[in-house]
Amino acid sequence: MPTRRKALLGRYDAHTHTTFSDGRNSVLENARAAEACGLETLIITDHVFGDAPWLGNMLREVEAADAACATKVLAGAEGVILNPAGEISITEEIAARLDFVLVDFGGRTEGIAADPPANQARLIKNVVSAVTKACANPLVDAIAHPLNLGRFPAVLSPVDFKAAPLIEMATAFEETRTAFEIMNQLPWWFPDHSVERITAEYADVLHLFARFGVRFIVGSDAHSCGAVGNLRWCERVMAAAGLGDEHLIDIPLAGERRKP
Ligand SMILES: [Zn+2]
Repeated sequence: MPTRRKALLGRYDAHTHTTFSDGRNSVLENARAAEACGLETLIITDHVFGDAPWLGNMLREVEAADAACATKVLAGAEGVILNPAGEISITEEIAARLDFVLVDFGGRTEGIAADPPANQARLIKNVVSAVTKACANPLVDAIAHPLNLGRFPAVLSPVDFKAAPLIEMATAFEETRTAFEIMNQLPWWFPDHSVERITAEYADVLHLFARFGVRFIVGSDAHSCGAVGNLRWCERVMAAAGLGDEHLIDIPLAGERRKP
């Protein structure tokens, strides 16, 4: 009898931070926590903005943790989408040394978080442009927690997006084979929404993206080892969206980039 493959949800955590950026624990501590949760694979995705002089040390620690733990440990990074042109804060040289590249909207994303236009339609245009162009960047494997727009000066909720801009983004994800990260702490980005409300709004977005063939990954965005492998909200929002394991993709093995 063939052994049943373990469900993808619960097999890996694609988004965690360590002391190499703003996390509280070391690579080995995150790796041990992942091992304790029974994860097969963990990706370390510290923030990269331009230079990363610590990268060599991080790669050595990832290799050592990988050798020491039953969990496979991969080296990734989380960059910032810099502007509506979709430029990113990770250089080609740095990306070439990593197994996995995530990018997100951060405080320094021009035209969205920094200097947003007063007009909401214009702001949504900037978001769509930034996301679709970042997807088209061959260095980018996944967009971290898309639509994390509840804490910047100009707040956008998922419901502020009509079908057309959502479909434009979904098409870009699908055509470029860029993964959409369902991030466990997404409700943190919306302090004024109840968890029930943001779960329902985000589930609608996931449902639409799935209809357009977009594939998802899951991550905790843990900033301490205690949060590594916590994917309970991912499970909840996926259930609300009608998404199952078949909508998730496995993360690439070391050295295998997802995009051609
Ligand atoms: Zn992160």
